[in-house]
Amino acid sequence: MKRRGVLFVLSSPSGAGKSTIARKLLAEDSDLKMSVSATTRAMRPGEVDGRDYHFVDLERFRAMVSNHEFLEWAHVFDHRYGTPRQQVEDILASGRDVLFDIDWQGAQQLFQIAGGDVVRVFILPPSMEELHRRLVARATDSEAVIDARMNRAAAEVSHWDGYDYVLVNDDVEHCYDCVRTILKAERLKRSRQTGLIGFIRSMLKN
Ligand code: 5GP
Repeated sequence: MKRRGVLFVLSSPSGAGKSTIARKLLAEDSDLKMSVSATTRAMRPGEVDGRDYHFVDLERFRAMVSNHEFLEWAHVFDHRYGTPRQQVEDILASGRDVLFDIDWQGAQQLFQIAGGDVVRVFILPPSMEELHRRLVARATDSEAVIDARMNRAAAEVSHWDGYDYVLVNDDVEHCYDCVRTILKAERLKRSRQTGLIGFIRSMLKN
């Protein structure tokens, strides 16, 4: 049965486990494709251009903004991040759902554009102390960057009420199960079943 695609947003302070959950979802669900954002921030060790982000310079980013190539974009930390529009349209046109790893500003903008097609999930760390421990253990950022991320995390968490679902990631398997359940239920919503009216009509005719 035909249905409208889900624009599935996962937000969290960095280090709360969102990337692990996103990777697992994508690996186990071929009907879900990642929206790869463009960013002006530098590539981290292990990241791949075009897979994790499209790494662009400020000039290119500005050109993309002027050409209306972004569905949404925002300043996050000291850099710019944006969701390329075409890629989202292509995924939806192929009958799949789109997964977004974007911040609260992006979630808000997307909701303004696409309303009921958007599902917003916020993942909280178990505590700020645990978040700090995870950022240090990740060892990809300098101490100054980690401090900035902790400040930013507190600001991010203050936007928890702009989301449809808020989960605490104190157990990654459990949190992942919750995210999968949300996606499954959202896919089944009556408002997404565009083929339902025709199906019911033909059912009642017979
Ligand atoms: P990081 O630099 O750690 O990969 O990401 C920093 C933050 O930017 C994360 O909270 C991530 O969700 C957010 N982000 C990544 N891509 C986008 C985007 O395209 N738009 C918005 N609004 N935020 C993004």
